[in-house]
Amino acid sequence: MKQRDVAAIIVAAGSSSRYGGNIPKQYEILGGKSLLLYSVEVLLAHPAISRVLLVINKEHHAFVAALKLSSRVEIVIGGASRQQSVNNGLKALQNKPPHGVLIHDAARPFITAQTVDALLVALETSDGAIPASPIADTLKKNTPAQKIEKTVERHHLWAAQTPQAFDYAKIFHAHTEFAAIEATDDAQLAELAGFSVALVPHSRHNFKITTQEDMQMAEALIAQTKPRQQRIGQGVDVHSFTAGDFVTLCGVKIPHIHALKGHSDADVALHALTDALLGTIGAGDIGVHFPPSDNQWQNADSLIFLRHAVKLLHAKGAEINNIDVTILCERPKILPHRVAMVAVLTKELGLADDQVSIKATTTEKLGFLGREEGIAAMAVVSVVV
Ligand code: MG
Repeated sequence: MKQRDVAAIIVAAGSSSRYGGNIPKQYEILGGKSLLLYSVEVLLAHPAISRVLLVINKEHHAFVAALKLSSRVEIVIGGASRQQSVNNGLKALQNKPPHGVLIHDAARPFITAQTVDALLVALETSDGAIPASPIADTLKKNTPAQKIEKTVERHHLWAAQTPQAFDYAKIFHAHTEFAAIEATDDAQLAELAGFSVALVPHSRHNFKITTQEDMQMAEALIAQTKPRQQRIGQGVDVHSFTAGDFVTLCGVKIPHIHALKGHSDADVALHALTDALLGTIGAGDIGVHFPPSDNQWQNADSLIFLRHAVKLLHAKGAEINNIDVTILCERPKILPHRVAMVAVLTKELGLADDQVSIKATTTEKLGFLGREEGIAAMAVVSVVV
């Protein structure tokens, strides 16, 4: 058939019995948004599609309301089975019957405009067209005792996907005529009715999310294709001297005629670096995470703070490009300890030597640093998220 007017039905009425989880999987967050929005957005944006119907479970109104869908999405209440839900969608199109219809499962988020294009081209010369991929695995049939009974010839076998495209009048007819048959997809009903349905070779990326494992694979795919963002963070800290005979800078103990005063071990360089790390992900500063009013951080090793910041970065998927730390003081001399400091930070942050820069400068005897009243440190961190 020649395509003129095409509608899309997205089936999202399932109760996700195989998936488990706290909410139905079609509303589960995937890569920052609800799973079903991926399909809704692609189909709404496609220029050939004039109507988009979303078939929902009657118990899921609250989930749908939370999505704040475009007013162009028409909501239809589904039935007890997938087949009945599709049927309800087809009936809802009767008021203005389209020439063609795409029937899609919301659990397949990875459709593209190209998928739709290819199906509509195939539909010009057949009654239906479905995306499918050739079976890659060797297929085995099992005995009741879970042993192999035989190998199934996989030549000519395809795994069917959605969206499935049909001549509207024909698929509606097939759905009505074979309503008593329990089909697992709509093409099966078209086959029963004797219609010609084209197989359109398609990527296996368009997989269906059935289990939590599928959801994890989908997350990984999305993370891979997401454009990464460059970010920077900066940190500054100052600690004054007090009585003592060593200071700790970047986790390295350096003998000195004073100590640094502070609630923790007063590692001013690690504090500046930790703040810079937190700055890359907008996670506040060191005082928010480790309040000085909390006694458990008294004399604490500042590497604890650094490790906490690194953990927060990793949770956001951030990777450090490089760090650059500058220590400002007249004394002690930093240079003799630089290699040891770099070694601490490369180990803690999992970075190479050329990603960790530690520098030192004096202030030419000017100001509080010049008068040797304390030590200041500044840090800049670059990450990709
Ligand atoms: Mg500090």
